[in-house]
Amino acid sequence: MNLQERDLQHLWHPYTQHQTAAAPLGIVKGKDALLWDENGKEYIDAIASWWVNPYGHSNQRLAQAAYKQLTQLEHVLFGGFTHEPAVALAEKLISILPDNQQKVFFSDNGSTAVEIAIKMALQYFYNQGEKRFTVVAFEGAFHGDTFGAMAASGISFFTEAFQEHLLKVVRIPLPKKGSDESITKLKEVIVTHRPAAFIFEALVQGASGMQIYAPEALDELLKICQAHNVITIADEVMTGFGRTGRTFASYYLNQQPDIICLSKALTGGTIPLAVTTTTQAIFDGFYSSDVNKALFHGHTFTANPTGCAIALEAIRILESEEMQQNLQRIAKRHQAFVKHISQYPNVVNARTLGVILAFDLKTTENTDYYGAFRDQLYNFFIDNGVILRPVGNILYILPPYVITDEQLDRVYEVLEEAVKRFK
Ligand code: PMP
Repeated sequence: MNLQERDLQHLWHPYTQHQTAAAPLGIVKGKDALLWDENGKEYIDAIASWWVNPYGHSNQRLAQAAYKQLTQLEHVLFGGFTHEPAVALAEKLISILPDNQQKVFFSDNGSTAVEIAIKMALQYFYNQGEKRFTVVAFEGAFHGDTFGAMAASGISFFTEAFQEHLLKVVRIPLPKKGSDESITKLKEVIVTHRPAAFIFEALVQGASGMQIYAPEALDELLKICQAHNVITIADEVMTGFGRTGRTFASYYLNQQPDIICLSKALTGGTIPLAVTTTTQAIFDGFYSSDVNKALFHGHTFTANPTGCAIALEAIRILESEEMQQNLQRIAKRHQAFVKHISQYPNVVNARTLGVILAFDLKTTENTDYYGAFRDQLYNFFIDNGVILRPVGNILYILPPYVITDEQLDRVYEVLEEAVKRFK
């Protein structure tokens, strides 16, 4: 039996309706922006494997960092203990995050980073005896699949079955050019609900199809939150570590969020690790002679030393001249491609920020998130050796920063083919 057949016997895959889904591709090898399946077919990973892998598959430097740490101290519990990789990574993160960030709380993935951020915000007010139970989020947001993260997410069919069990979230529209609607709605919600927090994907809503909005608009919303003591949470799980062309999307802002969530590219796509970082003021809200005011949250693998050592090396790679040039190179090429592809009448709202590029395909077909049109597109790209996952009729790419010009040209070419074919 091959990998595919063995998989079908026992595996349950994410976001998969197993009755209708095609069997998963068995991948046996990865190098830089390329992956190979068990039949030897080569693919360009145009979405960096769900946005985690900026520095390339099977990266030697990250592998060496892992090996060194695994043979020195692979893991130790983080309750009552600490270690060099966690301390050094926290120091490094604090030095590159917005100035107001002072404390780092470790967990395992984007959802837990968000879950912890929401718990921090709610308990911050609880500890002070202040009644604030609501969270404000954007329509169309995606923050993860745990209960708090689901509650803050707006994509309905992901969370439909759980609506009765989710915490109170009020949604406001994503800022649009020339409209004050999201400001007006936020002001309203602040009066009617006295929210504890406002959570947002910074500048780009990823899972709803790379919807980009302006930093100036977000700054306005943050100012309103600050004026009303609403804790602001920047979910930079997707945007962190260079995706938007700058190290963090928050760099584009004048206002600084109180809490920042990071994961995905943190370890360069190697092993799961996440952080929720906060200001001193939030930390101080838990600092007390009363033990009950502590944040009673922790995961077994909190601050796993191997993950932390890899993350440190990953940040060094990000900061290298070579990687910074890659970011600029890809951003420039994306801008040119956006111009080019926009000439097709069935291409709508072609957009790019940093290494993110997306456009909508005008069609009379059903444009459901996981609909038949999306499946046709997906299969077309797979057949052509390019891995990308359309969101309904939205095509997007978010390649590893190490993608070569030739590989990127091939991705553009296949995208253009799709535009011509799926009219
Ligand atoms: N936040 C954002 C912005 C995300 O894009 C995602 C995942 N796509 C998450 C949180 C959840 O991360 P994870 O899948 O690691 O739980």
